[in-house]
Amino acid sequence: MKKQPLFSSMHTHTKFCDGKDDIETMCQAAYDNSLFAIGFSSHAPTDKQLGSVNGWNMKSDLIDEYVKQVHAAKERWKGKLNVFLGLEVDYIKGKRSPLDSDIVNLKLDYIIGSVHYLFPENGAQGFTVDGPQEEFDTGLKYGFGGNAQKLMHSYYDAEAEMISAGGFDIIGHADLLKKNTLGKNLWRQEEETERQKEIVKIAKKMGLVFEVNTGGINRNKIPETYPSLSFLKIIKKFNVPVIITADAHRSKDINGNYVIALNTLKEAGIKKHYILKEKTINNKSVWLKEIIIKN
Ligand SMILES: [Zn+2]
Ligand SMILES: [Zn+2]
Repeated sequence: MKKQPLFSSMHTHTKFCDGKDDIETMCQAAYDNSLFAIGFSSHAPTDKQLGSVNGWNMKSDLIDEYVKQVHAAKERWKGKLNVFLGLEVDYIKGKRSPLDSDIVNLKLDYIIGSVHYLFPENGAQGFTVDGPQEEFDTGLKYGFGGNAQKLMHSYYDAEAEMISAGGFDIIGHADLLKKNTLGKNLWRQEEETERQKEIVKIAKKMGLVFEVNTGGINRNKIPETYPSLSFLKIIKKFNVPVIITADAHRSKDINGNYVIALNTLKEAGIKKHYILKEKTINNKSVWLKEIIIKN
């Protein structure tokens, strides 16, 4: 198959966290699908920060082996596939951030910053917005008194704080909140749109990139990309770069539903997306390679 550097897969999970396949299997799948690059973005450990392990963040004692194995894959695939070392780091106010020294010290090629957790201000138990519906409903009930509008603002507060603080490269699934709320009219849409505008403006100022993530479609959770078409239209308006990702947890999803992502970008009027080229320390200008979207 002719190799065309049109796509990459920079949001990739393996057995080191909640993925199903190992690093080599994912590299092979990226190569077989003619991708220009694969980036590994295991869920960074949170066990030391939260005081407990969960089923999806990498355990902290695995991090050295993870780094070693991705470096080994870079060597093995040299000349055939660009392999990048990254992490998907949770932003949890006061507890976890891409700026934490244990993350910075790893000297990663890139970092995806993501908000999955909300820790309500009333002290109720923290929960993930993309977990099972019951977990979400319990978090909404006890953390926000059932007021979904408040929860929505709390989610975008966390997004805004994370993006303002910086220390990462790609904004992960910027409207992940919709996983358990899409189509339910739980708050005024105009208010959410305002928050999304605010997020895009900060991202622009910080020189960050939004991922256009097909993970929700690949796993049959939602019928659309993160961010949504309307969110992407705001991103287009402010001319912030986007990178298409699959949030693959299985090798078969390595570039899953990229056609839907492309079509959504076209519909939003976005005429180019980017792939990761190479990263030179302190020189972000060579980080992205522009790909023009053909009609
Ligand atoms: Zn994520
Ligand atoms: Zn992910």
